[in-house]
Amino acid sequence: SLSLESLVEAIKWDENGLVPAIVQDAKSREVLMLAYMNQESLSKSMESGQTWFWSRSRSELWNKGATSGNTQDITSLRYDCDGDTLLVEVNRKGPACHTGENSCFYRTAASAPSDLSVLGSRFAVLDELERLIADRYEERPEGAYTTYLFDKGIDKILKKVGEETAESIIAAKNGDNDELRYEVSDLIYHLLVLLRERNLPLDDIMHELERRHERPRRD
Ligand code: AMP
Ligand code: ZN
Ligand code: ZN
Repeated sequence: SLSLESLVEAIKWDENGLVPAIVQDAKSREVLMLAYMNQESLSKSMESGQTWFWSRSRSELWNKGATSGNTQDITSLRYDCDGDTLLVEVNRKGPACHTGENSCFYRTAASAPSDLSVLGSRFAVLDELERLIADRYEERPEGAYTTYLFDKGIDKILKKVGEETAESIIAAKNGDNDELRYEVSDLIYHLLVLLRERNLPLDDIMHELERRHERPRRD
């Protein structure tokens, strides 16, 4: 590990002599808070093994937990590729946030996939297709294949899902990816028709997938 001197050298202090420090729970890996360190708070953190920051609002050194008792014992201190951010892993004695929440990041502004356009754009066509199918369901325009499926009802839709599944299997067995692309596209379209017929939003499927994909916590 580095000496304080070489660490101070390695860090790109901003114009106020500060560097942002992300605090992470060493056990749960939860991101707890963001605060700023100056050279003195970094030195005190390294000496004491507890987190010390520079309070920008109060313009004073701040030992996290000094008044609340919710101190943080440092288990590792890292700095990033370009030296402009610290990552402090801690064992926390209590909540990191002054609101009493474990993490300061307890409020969700947006969550994938429905709210975030970055993810939305990749699957935008699914979104549009779901909307188009919903329009067909409501308006039943004459001559549209989707209208025909909804008019025939659930059994017809299920039969088509079964057929397209079988055709996808055959295409995969044939090793023909042009055929597979075509059949899986048919299958997805018919699955979306089925979801509309059963009144199950695609969002619910996405959230279920997302829930299953969440990283298991160790505690
Ligand atoms: P503490 O350091 O927990 O004893 O709290 C002392 C004061 O520091 C609080 O009243 C807040 O003003 C501030 N404070 C504590 N924790 C945080 C945090 N996670 N983010 C920002 N300010 C904090
Ligand atoms: Zn950086
Ligand atoms: Zn907070």
